[in-house]
Amino acid sequence: MAKKVLKFGGTSVGTIERILHVANIVKKEHLAGNELIVIVSAMSGKTNELIEHSKNISSDFDKRELDVLLSSGEQITCALLAGALIEIGINSKSWLNWQIPILTEGKHSNSRIINLSVTKINDYLTKKGVVIIPGFQGISKNGDVTTIGRGGSDATAVAVAKIFKADSCEIYTDVDGVYSSDPNKIPVAKKIDKISYDEMLEMSSLGAKVMQSSAVQTAMMYNIPLEVKSTFTDRPGTKIFSQENIDYTKSVTGVAYSKDDAKITLTDVEDKPGVAASIFEPLSKNQINVDMVIQNISLDQKTTDITFTVKREDLKKTIDIIKRNKNIVYKDISHNDKVSKVSIVGAGMVSTPGVTYKMFKGLAEEKINILAISTSEIKLSVIINEQDTVEAIKKLHTIFELD
Ligand code: ADP
Ligand code: ASP
Ligand code: MG
Repeated sequence: MAKKVLKFGGTSVGTIERILHVANIVKKEHLAGNELIVIVSAMSGKTNELIEHSKNISSDFDKRELDVLLSSGEQITCALLAGALIEIGINSKSWLNWQIPILTEGKHSNSRIINLSVTKINDYLTKKGVVIIPGFQGISKNGDVTTIGRGGSDATAVAVAKIFKADSCEIYTDVDGVYSSDPNKIPVAKKIDKISYDEMLEMSSLGAKVMQSSAVQTAMMYNIPLEVKSTFTDRPGTKIFSQENIDYTKSVTGVAYSKDDAKITLTDVEDKPGVAASIFEPLSKNQINVDMVIQNISLDQKTTDITFTVKREDLKKTIDIIKRNKNIVYKDISHNDKVSKVSIVGAGMVSTPGVTYKMFKGLAEEKINILAISTSEIKLSVIINEQDTVEAIKKLHTIFELD
């Protein structure tokens, strides 16, 4: 007998038929003698639909009320799944965020789970009941409903696994594991049997939405093993755990990509000490995160070009701040938001020389222009033109033998 946390994502509970299918998976696990806490997402598309409703009322919809609205999606699936289990003869009960309660801290729409009361739930588990909990939400110290960021049901699952000291945390979704790249967009992508927390964290932070990055971060911090698997097939999924348990035969494990970035270039910036600080200080004061920075060599020792990237949603605000900045002198400012960030990720990169060269050479062979670069120990990201994304990912699969 094991204590298990099972999380079912939006597509897995997207229709009544699928909820009935999930109820059967849960029933099988229950009859195998396991204690089960099940976390559910909203039916697929529901959260987006609710956001649209709010936008039709106001482009600046009240944040407290938005959280009340968005949390309702998961509450619907909780009741439907508990009802479906009862219908097939399994004792089950749903608890809403305030009934447990799931305590959070932080701002509306971006809160963090800090605690969860275990007594009622543990009582019910000892009576052989299946517990259903809504993902993606909690309540603040003041009793206000909060949500914890898009894709946040993963984070709920990991937090619950940690607090209830579960033996396993299984993330059921619409693909049968973590792939070297998004299998729905890159058909040559291959399934990864096991991946370390560090690599998964890089993959999800760099665009692989199969796991939410803050969930991976918590799992890594508390050493909670995760498994990503399919709701629709019985194939084994991907195990995510600590690096010591993995032998690296390849330098690169996966290729992530995102289309969330924008590139800004300032030309003929006066080249003197402190100029970079004068550009970036007001951005950081306005909570704008600068990701990659490239400063060209100054040919005349007087001026230089500086290119950097920010999140696409921050582009307009960034340009406004730069234009208002009286402390910098430059000739021109240009931007490009039709770019994508393509990243290779792999713990094996640390011990393999020449990975950077191989990546750049491969992209050059496809005549793909690199617009910016950033590296860390286990990842290498480049900004390229958006239309080259798929070609770049395919090439990287070939040269790093991922396909
Ligand atoms: P859920 O609703 O179950 O949480 P998500 O839509 O959040 O599911 O995540 C699953 C999706 O993640 C897949 O359908 C797939 O398109 C996408 N995805 C992106 N990158 C990867 C990857 N490297 N491996 C697997 N899936 C990926
Ligand atoms: N329903 C929420 C979302 O769409 C949370 C989740 O599905 O994990 O972001
Ligand atoms: Mg998800």
